[in-house]
Formats: sequence, C-alpha cells, structure tokens
Amino acid sequence: IIRIRDLQKSFGRLTVIDGLDLDIAKGEKLALIGPSGSGKTTILRILMTLEDISGGRIEVCGEPLFHMSRNGTEEPANDAHLHRMRRHIGMVFQHFNLFPHKTVLQNITLAPVLTQGATRADADRRGRDLLDMVGLADKADHMPSQLSGGQKQRVAIARALALQPQIMLFDEVTSALDPELVEEVLEVMHRLARETDMTMLLVTHEMGFAHDFADRVLFFDKGRIVEQGPPDQIFTAPQEDRTKSFLRKII
Ligand code: ATP
Repeated sequence: IIRIRDLQKSFGRLTVIDGLDLDIAKGEKLALIGPSGSGKTTILRILMTLEDISGGRIEVCGEPLFHMSRNGTEEPANDAHLHRMRRHIGMVFQHFNLFPHKTVLQNITLAPVLTQGATRADADRRGRDLLDMVGLADKADHMPSQLSGGQKQRVAIARALALQPQIMLFDEVTSALDPELVEEVLEVMHRLARETDMTMLLVTHEMGFAHDFADRVLFFDKGRIVEQGPPDQIFTAPQEDRTKSFLRKII
C-alpha cells in the first residue's frame, strides 16, 4: 500500500533521510525505532505531505504522492491531488493538537463535514461510535481542557479515524503522557490493530509495545534502515552492532 524508493530528505546541509527503500503491505503493523534525531518523525511527516522531499519516489495506494516538477525534483502536486492523497492517511501526533475551542465531538466531526461532505447527523453518529470505541462516550460534550492527556490522545485517535483512512501514522503518541496514562492509549491502539485491517505505522520509544504490536520492526539510524525483521528477531537476536548498542541503552 506504500512503496518508497531511494527517498532523500535534507534540511539545508543536513541529510535526514539517505536512500530509504521501504514497502509496506496493506494491513501491516510496522514499528519504527531508533535514536532521537534519526529521521523517524520526518518519514511520517513526508507521508502526510507535511514535508516535501529532496529525491526519490513514494507511492501510496498505487499513486505517486509527489509529482516530478520541471526542474527534476519531486514536489507536491496540485491541491486536488494532495487532498485526494491525504484522504488515504491519518496521523496522530505526540502533542494531541486538538482544537481547544471545540467540544470533543466537534473536534471529531469538523473534518468529515468540511472536507468529505458528510452530513452533520452522520458525522455525529460516527463520531459518537468512535468515542465509544476509545472509551470516551461520556465526554462528547466536554472541552479538551477538561480532559487528561491520555483522554486527549484518545480523542485525537478518534478524530483521525473519523476520516476513514486506510493508513494510520502514530508519532510517539505516548511520549508526552504521564506514565500512568500511557497504558490506556496503548490499549486503544492494540484494539485497533486487532479489530481492523488498517495499515499502521508507528514511531515509538515504547519497546515493549513495539514488540507486542508490530508485525515488523525497523531500526532506523542516521537516515537509513540499519536492520528490520519480526519483533522477536530484532529485540532478542539483533544482528547489527548499532541495533544491539541502541537496545542495550534503552531496555
Ligand atoms: P525524535 O525521536 O527525537 O523525535 P526523530 O528520529 O523523529 O527524532 P526527526 O524529528 O525526524 O527525528 O528529525 C531528524 C533531524 O532533522 C533532526 O536532526 C532535526 O533537528 C532535523 N529537522 C527536522 N525537521 C526540521 C526542519 N523543519 N528544519 C530543519 N531541521 C529539521
């Protein structure tokens, strides 16, 4: 469902992604781990078309995400193309980014009504179902400021799901949370992984969660994939020295 070839990304002179090749199958659950600053978040932001690319090619659902421009670089195509491609992918950020002046339910229904032409009644019904799914059915009319961090993050997940993406990206969704709130968010993600065939790609520092959640773990360092494989292999029998030393430091 995602095909990345020779992806390059630099910020000025800093090369952040250096020749990434990656194929992600429909329904696959992928965990991206690696040291801080290794470019993990940048990959997700590129897939969301929040960043352009410096070289290479990305296809999502069989279509190029970026178009080749006349001077030979790939760049986001026109708004209609971007709009269409963005519908395939939802993203949940480390800092929930909820709209502070909207209720919980409005946070979830705004985009379906504005960008997908859903009727208010349909959007409300689906929004309430999603809140139920993340265990927050009773918070629909609360304001974000009345919620705990874990609850806000669950609303953010419901909001991304409201657009019915085929692919969900999760960027360190628990790292801004107090430790006792992490579990409730991971539980929601586990349920999503079990009960849907959505393709899920997550960047995480929670190695236990990456192990239980992912079909495949990718260790990323200095803009390249150093090693990848099933969780048992990566966490218990890593082959590469860099993976070993990273895991020794954090587990
Ligand atoms: P972390 O685990 O700390 O979030 P990461 O692996 O997700 O790290 P990225 O956030 O992708 O890493 O950042 C990779 C590098 O790119 C970092 O050195 C960062 O400072 C740099 N970088 C990211 N965004 C920009 C930007 N907009 N302009 C300049 N440099 C950037």
